[in-house]
Amino acid sequence: SLPRLPVFEAISRHDPDSTAVVHSASGRRFRYGDLLADVCSVRNRLCERAGRSDLDGERIAFLVENSYDYVVTWLAVLAAKAIAVPLSPAFPAPELQYILNHSQALMLLSSDRFAPKADEVLRTELEVEPIHVRLDKFEGSGCAARPGAPEKVTLEETGPGSAGMMLYTSGTTNRPKGVLLPESVLTAQARSLLQAWEYSSSDHLLHVLPLHHIHGTINAIYTPLFSGSAIEFMFPFNADAVWRRFAAPFLAAENGHGHANGTGTANGTANGHPIPDLAATASRPRPRPRPITFFTAVPTIYSRLLASHKTLSPAVQHAARTALSPSNLRLAISGSAALPTPVQRAWVELSGAAPLLERYGMTEVGMALSCGLDPADRVDGSVGWPLPGVEARLVDLDTRRVLDPNDPADRDRPGEIQLRGPSIFPGYWRNPEATAREFVLDDSVAANGEGRKNGNAAANGASATNGALKNAWFRTGDVAVRRAPPPSAGLSDRPSQRSWARGDMYFVLGRRSADIIKSGGEKVSALEVERELLALPNVAEAAVVAVPSGRWGQKVGAVVVLNPPPEEKGEKARWSPLEMRRALKGRLAAYKIPQVLRVVDKIPRNAMGKVNKKELVKEVFA
Ligand code: ATP
Ligand code: MG
Repeated sequence: SLPRLPVFEAISRHDPDSTAVVHSASGRRFRYGDLLADVCSVRNRLCERAGRSDLDGERIAFLVENSYDYVVTWLAVLAAKAIAVPLSPAFPAPELQYILNHSQALMLLSSDRFAPKADEVLRTELEVEPIHVRLDKFEGSGCAARPGAPEKVTLEETGPGSAGMMLYTSGTTNRPKGVLLPESVLTAQARSLLQAWEYSSSDHLLHVLPLHHIHGTINAIYTPLFSGSAIEFMFPFNADAVWRRFAAPFLAAENGHGHANGTGTANGTANGHPIPDLAATASRPRPRPRPITFFTAVPTIYSRLLASHKTLSPAVQHAARTALSPSNLRLAISGSAALPTPVQRAWVELSGAAPLLERYGMTEVGMALSCGLDPADRVDGSVGWPLPGVEARLVDLDTRRVLDPNDPADRDRPGEIQLRGPSIFPGYWRNPEATAREFVLDDSVAANGEGRKNGNAAANGASATNGALKNAWFRTGDVAVRRAPPPSAGLSDRPSQRSWARGDMYFVLGRRSADIIKSGGEKVSALEVERELLALPNVAEAAVVAVPSGRWGQKVGAVVVLNPPPEEKGEKARWSPLEMRRALKGRLAAYKIPQVLRVVDKIPRNAMGKVNKKELVKEVFA
């Protein structure tokens, strides 16, 4: 039996024969009906290895590829009342070491494929001694191998204990921080998204993201498990393969099926590891793949898809377009970094459908702001409204006054986004200073700019049972303005949207620390300048940073990649920095126009498409 967690209850109610997971490369399917029995068996094995009846509150790290096995492993750790710490197989050994040490992991679980990687890390000098458990593959036990009725699993009234997950932040501004997400927080995040984005059992989600961030885990696995959606894993991301998968259901029958579903990853590698499971299934006839109804990705993925669409054969191009029509792909979402206007425009032009739905979130809070399901509720540059269950406010950067949403004078005034509600994390793991710094208890505390003194339960990340914590506001460190939406937005009469997608919309200006440039007494939003740079015809990528200046304190610096890359045609860049600045004149106030502008070949980004601006400043402007 398993503890009666809401996610297990939801899974036990789904049609047992419906698809929970598909491995895109092999076409293998796994049923909802088998999921809980598999979770049970892994949970039992983990408890046996530890010699305990449960692993309450222990951190269990794991290195498992994007697959059914990942889902089973994660849920098995929750079932043991432990804290799941998913690791990225792409991390170099020192990064893995850091997380194992910092989380004080009791166990390191690995799939076959990543067992050598786990061994390699465990051979290094660690402060902890995790037990290495090599997991069996469920690969061979897909639907085809289990034709009978699924095994029934009973749910027991034992409470969640300290079940949860710990994710590390992207490390964009500093060393990654351990963010504790108790099961109640995971579930609150899922419930909020279920309402806002209407996941359902008819959804078929294409999953191309890494599995150590909220985007890939909560939005694209945990929440769809609640609704009985099918999750199809296709990783690592390959633009060509994604298009062919989108197109497959709409290609003429003769080149459909196995061929159309065969993806670019078929002979490819994941983080340098060959994908092994193809030969075995090559001869088996495969059902025609279902249309993708739900897709979620980061802006750089959308850019790459748009570039790659042009290179497809006309037949695939056409079928891919059909796949994007709203009757097939009901929802395409962008987040994790700001979505550039030209990408949004090109997507609308290509699909002939609604704009991408942009949302804002972070490891500590899950999804917090989102545009709506109705196309009119997606406004370029806006991340929408606070999601169901999320309370948001803006706090003036200098005076720390809470901006009044009803005061027209406060409209358009930038403020730090602060959030509270059941979906917000309770505290950083083993970092009471950061926890105390990033939470403010109430309005009066915000006014004196004092953080929470008492790290309490969150000090060691144990649990968030303290009542006072529930009312604390979390400082996101991101800056936004509220603006009135166009008259057609915020009027949705869909019941799922009516309660939250209304009123002024939020527009993110960037991070307080890295994106708000203070130049000669003026505040400049890096994101705003990036938007305008990207709107110039020759600019492919742009990052705007603060460059120290004796005269101005800081000045606006920009790094751009030109489009097409100058060396490709052996030509010189057609635009000089001077010309670029001239072109910005009509678009931006003079003090916002970059004073230093560098053209580079490449802007370094992490796996989620984020630019580490501190590094960039060092590299380019040092
Ligand atoms: P670290 O906290 O370690 O410096 P990080 O903040 O990049 O890293 P994440 O939690 O993965 O780590 O990312 C959250 C951040 O991503 C947000 O604080 C915000 O700055 C940015 N972000 C997410 N969605 C959007 C969006 N739609 N528009 C602009 N920025 C976004
Ligand atoms: Mg952060």
